[in-house]
Amino acid sequence: MTHAIGQLGAIAATALFIFSLLWMSDPKTARRGVAAGVVGMTIAVLATWIQPEIVHHAWILVAIVAGFLVGVPLSRVPLTAVPQRTALSHAFGGLAAGLVGTAKYYLWLGEGPELLTKFRMTALVAEVILGFLTFTGSLMAAGKLQEIRWIPQRPVTYAGQNLVNLGILALAVILGVLLIAYPAAAWSGFAFPVVIVLALLFGVLLIIPIGGADMPTVISILNSYAGLAAVAMGFVLDNRLLVTAGALDGSSGLILSIIMCRAMNRSFTNVLFGAFGTVQVAKANEDQKEWKQESPEGAAQLLEQARLVVIIPGYGMAVAQAQHKVRELYDQLTKRGVTVKFAIHPVAGRMPGHMNVLLAEAEIPYSALVEMDEINPEMPQCDVALVIGANDVVNPAARYAKDSPIFGMPIIDADKAKTVLAIKRSKKQGFAGIDNELYVHDKTWMLFGDAKGVIGDLVKQFAGGGLH
Ligand code: NAP
Repeated sequence: MTHAIGQLGAIAATALFIFSLLWMSDPKTARRGVAAGVVGMTIAVLATWIQPEIVHHAWILVAIVAGFLVGVPLSRVPLTAVPQRTALSHAFGGLAAGLVGTAKYYLWLGEGPELLTKFRMTALVAEVILGFLTFTGSLMAAGKLQEIRWIPQRPVTYAGQNLVNLGILALAVILGVLLIAYPAAAWSGFAFPVVIVLALLFGVLLIIPIGGADMPTVISILNSYAGLAAVAMGFVLDNRLLVTAGALDGSSGLILSIIMCRAMNRSFTNVLFGAFGTVQVAKANEDQKEWKQESPEGAAQLLEQARLVVIIPGYGMAVAQAQHKVRELYDQLTKRGVTVKFAIHPVAGRMPGHMNVLLAEAEIPYSALVEMDEINPEMPQCDVALVIGANDVVNPAARYAKDSPIFGMPIIDADKAKTVLAIKRSKKQGFAGIDNELYVHDKTWMLFGDAKGVIGDLVKQFAGGGLH
């Protein structure tokens, strides 16, 4: 009976995970998607817990309490820290898979080497290598994104790096294959920890040469590794639910990495083998070019006279939490008959969908949000491009500067608009650490300051100030 309930629970949980992914792919149904994922996971835990072979209930309670102790604070991080939070989740997933694989190996080795079949050993080796490399790789990625002092933010590269990295991975795989062939040989119990150490080391070395601009892609690749580790764990534990959940996790991570590779114009194999991360050399802005400044009054006049205004939000809007003020500006402009569209770059901000989430929070209609490929052909007709805390995603150097770390990344064509207004606090560079000629373009006017404050000043011009 409990077995049948368990099977039914597993089917229900799998269906909910699939619907969860489907619903999360659209902002309108995303909340439902999250709820479906939570319900699916609860069913999965309960359906496993009621099985008769589970006897140590106290340990399960300890694990659940530990999960809450870590999970609740993690859920409270600000939206801007979600990428590193996600990396931490992958680290925990990888660690869990690695530890379960290790425990199972030594348990079976002690109980009787005949239990270590070729199939189980293959799954175990895959689980342990993927799990532990995901653990350290994700910790490094989280540390880099959190800008922890002792983890270098910039790519660290040296000659023959790929050879060293691939050599370490190859060594782990060769030892793994030997373990599959001779799981209970006299040396096996010692070789197993060596595989673990090599996987841990590979995870660290994989991330060291990667610069910030590639980090989102790397995080979603680590997501797919964590998923694959869970699939292997499912085979080890003979748990079909883990296999399907891991496969969904792994494939969605893989699909997301491919989408992001395209958005950032990175080749997928290049990212996968860690062969990227050339040191970024910041070049001085063309010194002779001058940064021209505009006042809130002048900027408000420009906006009011426009027919089409395209707002290009970026990371700075998220930092300033300016989305609600942006909504007020949107209302003021549309009230005056100005058409306002939001140009959404796929990697604007610090996580996929970052801008969509913020603008949805401020209840800006979805219909006003336009993807990059659709808005770019309209940019020459745009009277004012209002760049709010975006930098790399509007940097024209991506089109032609072959030595630039963002070369080839598709951008929002802000420079093709008739006039550009750009809001940022200083003359500092964006995430990729390179200058942006857009700001010193003849048609660009800067509004220096915190995005929330500057947009607030613009709104005041419309609401209470000079413009009616
Ligand atoms: P960005 O290149 O990081 O530039 C953000 C700009 O916002 C900065 O130049 C900064 O200039 C300004 N800013 C910061 N705080 C501000 C505030 N309070 N008020 C006004 N301006 C503020 O951002 P982006 O154009 O959105 O590009 C995203 C970058 O992040 C890309 O390189 C992408 O590859 C990378 N990335 C993306 C993801 C993702 O999944 N979306 C994840 C990780 C990394 P000041 O300091 O002068 O104010």
